[in-house]
Amino acid sequence: MRSGQAFKRELPRETPCAGSRTGIPAKHPRMYAQHLVSAFGAAGCILKNYRKRIQRGVACSVPYVKRLMMKAENQAYKLDRRSGIIDLPIRAGCHVELRLIVSQYHRKYLDDTALSLGSLTILPHRVIVAFRKDAPKLHAPESVLSLDTNERSLDGLFVESDVASAVRAEFPEVAIIQQRHHDRRRRLQKKKAHDRRISRNLCRREGAREHHRIEYRLHEVANAVISLAEDQRSAVVLEDLRGIRSKRNKVLNRRLSMWPRRKLHQIIEYKAQWKGVPVIKVDPRNSSRTCPICGRIQDSRMGAEFKCECGWHLDRHINASINLLQTAISNGRDGGGFTVQPRRVPA
Ligand SMILES: [Zn+2]
Repeated sequence: MRSGQAFKRELPRETPCAGSRTGIPAKHPRMYAQHLVSAFGAAGCILKNYRKRIQRGVACSVPYVKRLMMKAENQAYKLDRRSGIIDLPIRAGCHVELRLIVSQYHRKYLDDTALSLGSLTILPHRVIVAFRKDAPKLHAPESVLSLDTNERSLDGLFVESDVASAVRAEFPEVAIIQQRHHDRRRRLQKKKAHDRRISRNLCRREGAREHHRIEYRLHEVANAVISLAEDQRSAVVLEDLRGIRSKRNKVLNRRLSMWPRRKLHQIIEYKAQWKGVPVIKVDPRNSSRTCPICGRIQDSRMGAEFKCECGWHLDRHINASINLLQTAISNGRDGGGFTVQPRRVPA
């Protein structure tokens, strides 16, 4: 409904399809009006992305929706949360009943009365029901979990009053899976070069498989981070990754763009919001090259260990997380609302 209204506002007054009884509603007089609004909303989103791409100067063709899909806002359908039956009105006197296969996992959400129903999306092979929850109040941090995101792990520091310990969440498989699927796609393309249709289909299947395998692992890592932060009532400090890619060589760029750190951060952030864990994003510039003791910035970021002329040495990733934490604290002093003040970091 909301997106529908936003779309309507952009249209000039006399446009016939903007909700009046001419244009599309006149062509489909018995169609449930809410569905038309949702359809406009979905189309509006696609157009918005198209416009953005044009503004950025990215080559793209006029969007064309091939995949069958339907979206209904929560006023436009009914879900019996006990039986898992969706009642979807199509037009006057015509309802469709969808029987969901409800597992224990689904039960958890269906039975939770704190969750209200959001939109319903119907795709050829699945039905997606969104749940809404009022974001819980963020807990006041009693400790900090500062994390530096690397290719194979999240490394960081957990600081509680005056004790700091190094933490690491490893996901070595992500990079391996990506490399393997990349190689496999390449092989497929070469092997099926005579038939583009088959090659495209096989590659798409490979891509979906890769996506699922990686997503699963990222969720596991994010769950581990959030459950620690929730138990210890920590604030999580992460790098702000906006605009981090620069002009480097092609292979490294591919690796960086493939590596789903932003995806991992997104997952951590929404899970944190869901659980009421505060997340602080800080500028990661020079975090891997700076000495947290004397403040010298080194030229190189090579090697597993960070060594400074002043005598400080530490695992490079942990060192970066100390710098992130210090940035977060100094931002807090400038009014960023960060209250935990750890007194000491490990030597
Ligand atoms: Zn130093």
